[in-house]
Parts: sequence; structure tokens; C-alpha cells
Amino acid sequence: MLKVGFIGWRGMVGSVLMDRMKAENDFRDIEPLFASTSQVGQKGPDIGKNIPVLQDALDVKTLSAMDIILTCQGSDYTKEIYPQLRNAGWKGYWIDAASRLRMEKDSVIILDPVNRDVIDKSLSSGIKNYIGGNCTVSLMLMAVGGLFKHEYIEWLSTMTYQAASGAGAKNMRELILQMSSIGNAAKDLLDKPSSAILELDKRVLEIMNSSSFPVEQFGAPLAGSLIPWIDAKMETGQSREEWKGYAETNKILQTKKQIPIDGICVRIGTMRCHSQALTIKLRKNISIDKIQKIIQESNQWVKVISNDKENSSKYLTPSAVSGKLTVPVGRIRKLNMGPEYLTLFTVGDQLLWGAAEPLRRMLRILVDYMK
Ligand code: NAP
Repeated sequence: MLKVGFIGWRGMVGSVLMDRMKAENDFRDIEPLFASTSQVGQKGPDIGKNIPVLQDALDVKTLSAMDIILTCQGSDYTKEIYPQLRNAGWKGYWIDAASRLRMEKDSVIILDPVNRDVIDKSLSSGIKNYIGGNCTVSLMLMAVGGLFKHEYIEWLSTMTYQAASGAGAKNMRELILQMSSIGNAAKDLLDKPSSAILELDKRVLEIMNSSSFPVEQFGAPLAGSLIPWIDAKMETGQSREEWKGYAETNKILQTKKQIPIDGICVRIGTMRCHSQALTIKLRKNISIDKIQKIIQESNQWVKVISNDKENSSKYLTPSAVSGKLTVPVGRIRKLNMGPEYLTLFTVGDQLLWGAAEPLRRMLRILVDYMK
């Protein structure tokens, strides 16, 4: 059986990965070894079979015995350990959730429902590093990968509505703390339906802008507000999150001619679903029926939602999609700008297709490949 080392399995992405692997019985075909940077010697996760105690995730000798290493530990860990392993002559496969190696020449960004052909070609040519993509990019491609495959997209602009989970577990907590601060401050006015609405509004604004409002993680109120900036600033004026849309999409698809992709990435007060409004310039006028068919047939998880209020409110929202692998795509229509201008809205669970699921599926692909 293949020896697979897991690092970062108890973090946020790692925990979702463990749940999915248990649900899909993925541990059956591998010999797993769990490591940690802080809990060496303690008991590993319950995966339904006996496993050794937690190993040292910084011990290159232990890791070198693995056929495959799957890490959700983060870029700092990758930066420290990956070169040491390769320099020690380790020839195994490296699967990683962190962005550190994504743009390297000898790495492939994995999203197999969209780029299985790229993954297969890379395996045949001896590539050993398979890296999960940026969550927003992966979710956008799960939604409209079919239109890219048919080469219908001349350019694409995405305006995002991104969840707190993308910034980490502490940020998810802070969002709820912010919500509860607002709720507590406004309670007496809410309990009195006859109170003036402007008084309620003033009270909410006061608490959001007060020094006691919890903003340590986000640096600004998110509940009742939004933050139109995610990640570091690039020289272009884009945020790094916005830059990834162009760089990673073209790398995932290995496009011959780079397709322009740009937009504005915004953090909003949802827990774990990212949403995006896309504007697409098509290469030619394609009917809405045909577009819907291509999207629907591109993979088994995407689901076209009819363009009406009832279905959009019921199926095209973070609360409907959280915890599910389904990627709904709705509000599909042509824009006033002309028949080649398409708009649509899509939602996806960023901890599933945006993080853990492509890693889980890559491990399965490798297990089958190495049989
Ligand atoms: P995380 O939750 O911060 O976990 C990373 C590590 O922190 C854990 O493996 C664990 O390592 C340690 N840790 C310390 N205290 C912990 C606690 N109380 N509970 C659990 N773990 C604790 O990291 P993450 O958000 O999953 O992200 C991991 C990587 O995936 C990053 O590179 C990130 O950029 C990437 N990624 C994240 C997302 C996302 O939505 N969050 C999406 C796509 C990709 P030890 O056992 O060694 O202590």
C-alpha cells in the first residue's frame, strides 16, 4: 500500500479534507501517517483504522519514507520543508493546499473536473508537485470551465463576494462576534417594534465604529459592512487575490494565448461560501440555451438555476450551498452592451471545491496511477 503522509490535517482545510476522505472511504487504499508541528506523540485523528501516534512534521527523514505527502499546513511550512525534502533526494509526490509552489514551472494547479487532461499529461511527463488552486479561481472554473473549454471566452471580469473562512478560522469567529455585538447593542430597540428605525440605524453604526467592536482579525467591521480588499497589494494596483484570477486560471487551463481576467475581490459577511458575479465577453454570439447546456454538461456538480427571483433566492445563495459540493450558476443572461456580453452569478463552498476536494481527488488519481 502507498505510504501517505498528512500534514495540516487538523487545520480548517485539513479537517474538511479528513471528513471528505472518511465519507468517500479514501483511507482504505493507503497507509496513512499523520504528522504535526505541535502535537508530536499525541493521538492522531479517528479514521476508522489503527494508525501510529502523531509524527514530527519537521522531521525530513520520517517524511522521506512517504510515497506521497499531502499538506494543508500553509506556505511557511512548504517553504521550510519542501526544499529540504527534495535536496535530500526525496522523489515522492507532493500535494499541497498552500500557494507557495503554485506558479512554479514544475508544479501543476489541480482541479481535475476542469483540467484532468493537464494532470494526466503532467503525470506522464514526470511532474511530482500538484497544488490546489486559489479558492475563488477554482470555484469560478467549476462554474464556467465548459465555456473556457469551448474557447468561447475572449475575456472575463469577476466581481467577488468572499466569505470569512477564506481568511481563516479566527476570522470566522470574529465575524460572528461582530454580529453578536451588533445584536446585543440593538436588542432593546429590536424588542420594541415601535422604536424609530433611524434610532436603530444610529445605534448599529455607533457600535460598529466603537473601539470595543472586535476587528483584530479583519481590521475593519465586516458584519453589516464589507471590505473591498483581500490580500497584499500588487504593483498593478490589484490585490493579490485579484492577480491570481488571471495568473492561476491561465495556468490551470494551460491556455496557449493568455485570456484576460480581472475584477475586484470583496470580503463580505458570509461564513464559507464565495459568490461571484461574472461579466464575460464571448468570442461570438451564442444563444443562452446553448450556454446553459454547455455549463450544465461541463461537470456533474454544476447546476444551472433558472433566471427568476424564486429559484435564485432558493438555490443561488451561500446559505443554500454551504457544506455542499454543488456549484449553482444562475442569473444567466445577455447584457445591454450587446449579444456577445454575458453575465451570470455563481456560488460555491470554498472549503470544499475551493480547498479540500481537489486535493482529495488528486490523491485518488495518484493512488490509481501508481497501482
Ligand atoms: P489553519 O486552520 O490555520 O491550520 C494550519 C495548522 O495550524 C494546523 O494544521 C495545525 O498544525 C495548526 N494549529 C494550531 N492551532 C490549531 C487549532 N486550534 N486547531 C487546528 N489547527 C491548529 O490553516 P487553513 O486555513 O486550513 O489553511 C491551510 C493552507 O491552506 C494555507 O496555506 C491556506 O492558504 C490554504 N488554503 C486555505 C483556504 C481557506 O479557506 N482557509 C482555502 C484554500 C487554501 P499543527 O498540528 O502542526 O499544530
